[in-house]
Amino acid sequence: MGEVVTFRKPRAKDRNKGKTLCKSGFHKWEVVKGNPFDVKLGKMVSRYRCSRCGAVKTQAR
Ligand SMILES: [Zn+2]
Repeated sequence: MGEVVTFRKPRAKDRNKGKTLCKSGFHKWEVVKGNPFDVKLGKMVSRYRCSRCGAVKTQAR
């Protein structure tokens, strides 16, 4: 009779693809705006955040 089509999460593939990229080190870095002064380092730094996995990195100027 009817066909059983299991097609629930069409976007899961794209998400996995992004995660794979992140795991490979290819993050989608976006500049985080805010206070660029890092107290720990005691100098100006640029903050980046991955829009896919949420990883954060700082880069000293
Ligand atoms: Zn990432």
